[in-house]
Amino acid sequence: MPLDFEFTEEQNMFRDTARDFGKNEIEPLIEECEKEEEFPKELFPKLGEMGFLGIVFPEEYGGVGLDKVTDCIFAEEMGKINAGIAMCINAHTSLALFPTYKFGTEEQKQKYLVPGIAGQKIGALGLTEPNAGSDARSIRTQAVKEGNKYILNGTKTWITNGCMADFTVVAAYTDKSKKGEGISLFIVEKGFPGFKVSGKIHKLGHKAADTGELVFENCEVPEENLLVGEGGFERAMATLLGARITHAAKSVGMAQAAFEYALQYSKDREAFGRPISKFQAISFKLADMAVKIETARLMVYKAAWLYSQGKRCVKEASMAKLYAAEVVQWVAIEAVQILGGYGYGVEYPVERYYRDAKLASLTEGTSEIQHIIIARELGI
Ligand SMILES: Cc1cc2nc3c(=O)[nH]c(=O)nc-3n(C[C@H](O)[C@H](O)[C@H](O)COP(=O)(O)OP(=O)(O)OC[C@H]3O[C@@H](n4cnc5c(N)ncnc54)[C@H](O)[C@@H]3O)c2cc1C
Repeated sequence: MPLDFEFTEEQNMFRDTARDFGKNEIEPLIEECEKEEEFPKELFPKLGEMGFLGIVFPEEYGGVGLDKVTDCIFAEEMGKINAGIAMCINAHTSLALFPTYKFGTEEQKQKYLVPGIAGQKIGALGLTEPNAGSDARSIRTQAVKEGNKYILNGTKTWITNGCMADFTVVAAYTDKSKKGEGISLFIVEKGFPGFKVSGKIHKLGHKAADTGELVFENCEVPEENLLVGEGGFERAMATLLGARITHAAKSVGMAQAAFEYALQYSKDREAFGRPISKFQAISFKLADMAVKIETARLMVYKAAWLYSQGKRCVKEASMAKLYAAEVVQWVAIEAVQILGGYGYGVEYPVERYYRDAKLASLTEGTSEIQHIIIARELGI
């Protein structure tokens, strides 16, 4: 089969639609959301109406039935508009809806996936705990079966959408004696007895994203809300591989936004009688930014294409995630440099890009964890 680097007409149209939506529906909200550190919840039904929350899900559940490449096109556009808002959308679709679709019973799909795709219910994934991040097998949350319920006890932290989510997919041990293998996943609704949002987390960047800490104190979860039983955790986590690719696409979008701003600024700003873009020190920087962003983009779409074809892409997904994370941080730092003192001022968006970029190497598996995965895939 020949190599084809072109997006389809449908994908190009999708990109235009996502871009217009970002401009018309998201951009006007950004300043307020960043200032108040609040996600604009009213966006979810609008996103649902446009089909943006169901890109990869089948039409029978209200999805659009498209592929991972299209999902990445959307994530890239959202990353360009606002990193915090993009992160909440990704957490909802890739981290909460995806495992519900992949592992859920028909009843669970009707109850959580269908309204999730429509943007009427917001989802989150609760894996990380105060004492367990990268080492997810060390979580302490426990679920004990009592009659037709599970009783959950534990704390989850750094949960995207945590404060506003209607339901959270929660990882908990059902058998502590089996490390990793004894973990199960549950769908926990906001209103379940014993569930509490214990606090909102304030962050360096991604200010528009909702990030919370959740506490389960003898939280009662009906047995039908068990999503993946023991032994399924590893499978579930491996399935979240797609989230890593989407995360990388978002990083590419963020880098592109920082680059475009710096490029335009360099043409407008004059020093020593000419635009600063005419200084080789600046133009080479911009050329390097363009090269790195394009490289990251190629890696993202290759991984997305492999994923869509059902081919193994563990290495490629981690490579794309790692590289895009490093690129967005480097590009954001250089964008600040190109703006000089103005890059440091809050009136310009570049300081936000700089703050937002740092997160890319911390979530969905840190850059160190991506190195470990890639090395493992290399047989080391
Ligand atoms: C804004 C934000 C949103 C998040 N959203 C979610 C969410 O929705 N759901 C969720 O469950 N979690 C979420 N997280 C948590 C995130 O996934 C974790 O922060 C991440 O997995 C790292 O865990 P940690 O912070 O505990 O760091 P640690 O695991 O303590 O790691 C600390 C440092 O040690 C390094 N390290 C750890 N182990 C190794 C190793 N074996 N080899 C080399 N280096 C290593 C790490 O790379 C890192 O640099 C979010 C985090 C943030 C900041």
